[in-house]
Amino acid sequence: MTMSEVDPRGDMELSVALIVPCTEAEGPGRRWALWFQGCPLRCPGCCNPEMLSFAGGRRLPAAAAIAGFEQAQREHGIEGITLLGGEPLAQARGAAILARAARQRGLSVMVFTGYTLEQAQQLGDPAVAELLACTDILVDGPYRQDLPERQRRWIGSANQRVYFLTDRYRADDPCWRRPNTVEIRWRPGELTVNGFPVSTPMGPSRRR
Ligand code: SF4
Repeated sequence: MTMSEVDPRGDMELSVALIVPCTEAEGPGRRWALWFQGCPLRCPGCCNPEMLSFAGGRRLPAAAAIAGFEQAQREHGIEGITLLGGEPLAQARGAAILARAARQRGLSVMVFTGYTLEQAQQLGDPAVAELLACTDILVDGPYRQDLPERQRRWIGSANQRVYFLTDRYRADDPCWRRPNTVEIRWRPGELTVNGFPVSTPMGPSRRR
């Protein structure tokens, strides 16, 4: 089955660690962000160790995730979605469904992966190819705690590269020069922190 044959409103299930309906700390503008649960990589110093196990998280139909960013588009005027984790490429089929659906709704797509772009392409997975084809900004490579990034916004370590896979964004866009931010949300029984700083003992933090 090719990705084009996958019904984006079907019952494909995602394993999800966290969703933030509207954030300004995970890429350009206001974005709906989804952290996948599960990562086969083990970067020393990983900022989201609670998202590494494939046994954790919650199951969510792709259709429900799509409905979530449709709602965020209506209510918050988001300009795009960001997929991170955990490892989006470990759930490439589901990630590609979300990315394609986002594109169809005029939203941009930003993806953080621990694989390099070359490694991702060499996986030979049609779903990964589909995901990359629907991605505007790709941040690649494992987190290196010995190479902390000091300059580039949203990037965890200096080895990671930013690819502008479409012309929707540019490296010299003003948003890249603004300082990093951290967002803290409290709902009864749940405290979430995303953005920088990269780690917190309080709950889900962020990426690589
Ligand atoms: S930093 Fe990212 S790629 Fe590395 S182990 Fe953690 S979630 Fe996986």
